[in-house]
Amino acid sequence: MGAIIIDGAAMARQVLDEQKAASGQLAQRGCVPGLAMVLVGDDPASAVYVRGKERACREAGVLSFDARLPAATTTAELLQKIDALNGDARVHGILVQLPLPEHIDAVAVLQRIDPAKDVDGFTWRSLGALLDGHALLAPCTPSGCMLMLERAGVPVAGRHAVVVGRSSIVGKPAALMLLERNATVTICHSHTPELAAVTREADILICAAGKPRMVTADMVKPGAAVIDVGINRLPDGKLCGDVDYDAVSARAGWITPVPGGVGPMTVTMLVHNTVQSAARLAG
Ligand code: NDP
Repeated sequence: MGAIIIDGAAMARQVLDEQKAASGQLAQRGCVPGLAMVLVGDDPASAVYVRGKERACREAGVLSFDARLPAATTTAELLQKIDALNGDARVHGILVQLPLPEHIDAVAVLQRIDPAKDVDGFTWRSLGALLDGHALLAPCTPSGCMLMLERAGVPVAGRHAVVVGRSSIVGKPAALMLLERNATVTICHSHTPELAAVTREADILICAAGKPRMVTADMVKPGAAVIDVGINRLPDGKLCGDVDYDAVSARAGWITPVPGGVGPMTVTMLVHNTVQSAARLAG
């Protein structure tokens, strides 16, 4: 029997509808949730991502504030912009689209965001809170993965979860969230010997390495839940994940497709975090 496909696009629409209802209730109390999107320069891929996020905001009744700045913007100017957004009562979430141009100190910029408006969950304050089990606003991609597991009915407590990848935006926070949900967690990375031997032990396998189709069927335990975070562009222009989807879906219990899996959920969790932040800031 093939794996159950966790349809991220359909789930994302459902969560957006829920957020629309929540933002409507907030609006009745005089608080329309607002997300500022800071985009520096004219990277076409970044512009596409921002447009997708603006669309999701519109669909959920969240205002989006377009904060586009020229490529020549300095770190000091960008910090001033962040300060202004931190102080703007209409703005409940601040997103800085990455990557920033190389001359900008990205760490300084991200860390300047008020943690109460840190809807990407990238500030050290947000990450520290997550580490200590008190997440205010958690990073969107791993939050989306957790919601997919939950809504698909995948048992997590007491299971062995393996996360491939240890970035601060995906792998590490995903591992912390799984730990918080009482999984036994192993984190793998490029120095892990015998990766297949580790992944084969996983009841839940989260793949976030950025390597096209590196997870093959023989690396997956029969019946496992496989969440594919990777987004890779193949030479023919098509997108694929880190998982060899066709072969693995014949062996796994659950699987997420690429595209149409974790990607749409990530955007939706950004909207979710903005609505949550607005609710908190509105009291
Ligand atoms: P990074 O490049 O920051 O991290 C990749 C991680 O994978 C590193 O920890 C690296 O190990 C590890 N890794 C690389 N190759 C191997 C290997 N052969 N075996 C084991 N581990 C390996 O990437 P991100 O975390 O930012 O993103 C990961 C993927 O997820 C990318 O494809 C990205 O496009 C995608 N992504 C998708 C999102 C979505 O919404 N669906 C959102 C964010 C990212 P080491 O630390 O040792 O170098």
